[in-house]
Amino acid sequence: MNDSFYQMLKQQALDGKSISKKDCRLVLQSKTIDLLLLLNAAFHVRQKYWGKEVTIHILNNVQNGHCSENCHYCAQSKSSRAAIESYPMKSDQAILNEAKMAYNSGAFRYCMVFSGKEQGLKRIEHLKRIIESIKRKYPIEVCVSPGFINAQQARILKEAGLDRLNHNINTSKRYYASICTTHTFDKRLETLRAAQDVGLEMCSGVIVGMGETPRDVIDAALTLRTFKNVKSIPINFFLPIQGTKLSPKSNLSPEYCLRVLCLYRFLHPRAEIRMAAGREYHLRDLQVLGLYPANSLFLDGYLNVKGTSRFQTLQMIKDAGFSIKSEQNLDTLIQKERQCYTKNNHDNTPLTLKQLSDLHPGHKKNSWHFGSKDPFAL
Ligand code: SF4
Repeated sequence: MNDSFYQMLKQQALDGKSISKKDCRLVLQSKTIDLLLLLNAAFHVRQKYWGKEVTIHILNNVQNGHCSENCHYCAQSKSSRAAIESYPMKSDQAILNEAKMAYNSGAFRYCMVFSGKEQGLKRIEHLKRIIESIKRKYPIEVCVSPGFINAQQARILKEAGLDRLNHNINTSKRYYASICTTHTFDKRLETLRAAQDVGLEMCSGVIVGMGETPRDVIDAALTLRTFKNVKSIPINFFLPIQGTKLSPKSNLSPEYCLRVLCLYRFLHPRAEIRMAAGREYHLRDLQVLGLYPANSLFLDGYLNVKGTSRFQTLQMIKDAGFSIKSEQNLDTLIQKERQCYTKNNHDNTPLTLKQLSDLHPGHKKNSWHFGSKDPFAL
């Protein structure tokens, strides 16, 4: 792929124009893509709207498990046998305390996630009071993932001062029936429309690696482009939790994951693109490169799966020369989390000296010692 291709991707994105499906496919599949040039093009777009800032999100499962739906990828679904902790909605006090902890950890946004396909009107009224309390007490953005909502519920949440509502579309309309049969893709879009109609900002993303094709990944991105209120797009990379119905052998490569992040940046130049669940598992040592197209990540793991430690994530941001969008100071946070990390990992020495067995890996342990005949002598 010559330079003009990357230049075109960047320019189309900066001009707010879509790119053709053919070019989207090239981004995801062409063997002649130069990954660094692609990342560089995406980074120019990211930089225009987000500079080198990273927004940190912290998830709180305010209610976990026992869902009536059968989303095959989800550990909380009725078809899942995953050994997760299930519990009803946490107390208001617990939710408020956890909002405070998120704020103190440098989070830009605190995301309260409910299991279940929807919440009743009474629960939404209750949620309104919680959102108002958090907004009164802490300068932190609030996001809620309540499942399906209708126009009346969207209005209540908007009045509460909710900053953003999460409802992922997960994949394309074409592939949706392969990952869930208890509700439809169109039903998901109804919630996005209800939120849009009352002026609520949306967070809506996808899960990559559930057996879909690149065409599905592209179509999902293009569907999100049809909603003007989608301001945040979490890109999750499927985590095959044991016990869930959908546990294919993941064939995602770190490079493909990075290409997906770049594609979403080109198609959604102004959006908060989040390198979400699975970054550690699928991007492995390349996850730091994800910060070039993406401008957001989760700090404390995901719904039912842990991520890397806070310290490692914050240090990665700093090492790559990025900053965080927070009232907290990044260096202070790193120092605080480092203490926690070294304590939990029983690792107080940053450098460990090699032992004799490390220095002579091919030699059997205990077969010689200093003073004995040199085993390596010719
Ligand atoms: S994704 Fe949401 S609706 Fe689907 S099973 Fe999980 S908790 Fe239920």
